[in-house]
Amino acid sequence: MSNQRIVVFGSIVQDLVSYTERFPRPGESVRGTLFKAGAGGKGANQAVAAARLGANVAMIGMVGEDMFGDTNIKSLSENGVDASGVVRTNKTHTATATITVNKEAENSIVVTLGANLEMCAEVADRHHELIETSRMVICQGEIDEKGNRRAFEIAKKHGVTTFLNPAPGDANMDKSILEIVDIICTNENEAEFITGIAQNSVEDAEKAARAMLQMGPRHAIVTLGSKGVLLATKDVDGVEHIRVDKVEALDTTGAGDCFCGSLAALLVAGHPISQSVRSAANLAALSVTRQGTQSSYWKIDEIREKHPQFLP
Ligand code: AMP
Repeated sequence: MSNQRIVVFGSIVQDLVSYTERFPRPGESVRGTLFKAGAGGKGANQAVAAARLGANVAMIGMVGEDMFGDTNIKSLSENGVDASGVVRTNKTHTATATITVNKEAENSIVVTLGANLEMCAEVADRHHELIETSRMVICQGEIDEKGNRRAFEIAKKHGVTTFLNPAPGDANMDKSILEIVDIICTNENEAEFITGIAQNSVEDAEKAARAMLQMGPRHAIVTLGSKGVLLATKDVDGVEHIRVDKVEALDTTGAGDCFCGSLAALLVAGHPISQSVRSAANLAALSVTRQGTQSSYWKIDEIREKHPQFLP
């Protein structure tokens, strides 16, 4: 561990976002009120959220040899992320997410993973040096899970902290990966997939957080949308419920990624877990007040100027 680098081993997706009054029913076509194309993917979003807070971030990912590959690499670089670990493949296309946001700011998403599915164990092996020399590696559920496992195996051998955001939730996920995860962060839906505990209340989420700790991680975190976040830590009694101030949500797409990337940046900067979770929750809440995913993430200078109380 030679530095404070965060390496994100994860997905890169071209977001194609249409804003509408309401979602179309099957067979129906509704008119959009606005369209935006943006760089996305859980991995890239988290990398950008961390970099916007001033962290040293490198991305290992895959894109196709197409227009969306160009724009997504450019976007990572423009946001201060080292994109030299992003590999181009001619076997398939850059992943796309076709997103619809209704007037209640709810979203409905179809993701076609394309190049992200090429993110196998061999890609982690190829970038082993970058992983070994980082402080933390973050993975999500949008790539080949064998790739995630290998990235974490390499990290664990070298004392690099492993952070898993198993999103989107997958009932068939190989849960044994949690044995080599230091920090797990889920929403309620993903917590249910992992623990089998139905999620209908904050108490259910507390039970899930405790159950996830038993599966390996040192910290289990469950995000609860406008209700904030739960934090459970090994050998610490009770589950901490960290609330966020209610904000007027404009677009919640990517809020969980903002939380994960911000949390990683704050932890690597040396802040204690509880303070870092509180801060990341407030920064994620700020992001839902703006439209878009990466474009909704606040930069450190703006936060210092307008909401310094949200930094630890
Ligand atoms: P989620 O993935 O929806 O659980 O959101 C992740 C984090 O974003 C939450 O833990 C909150 O910190 C923040 N967040 C999401 N939605 C809202 C909202 N409507 N109001 C305030 N904060 C929110």
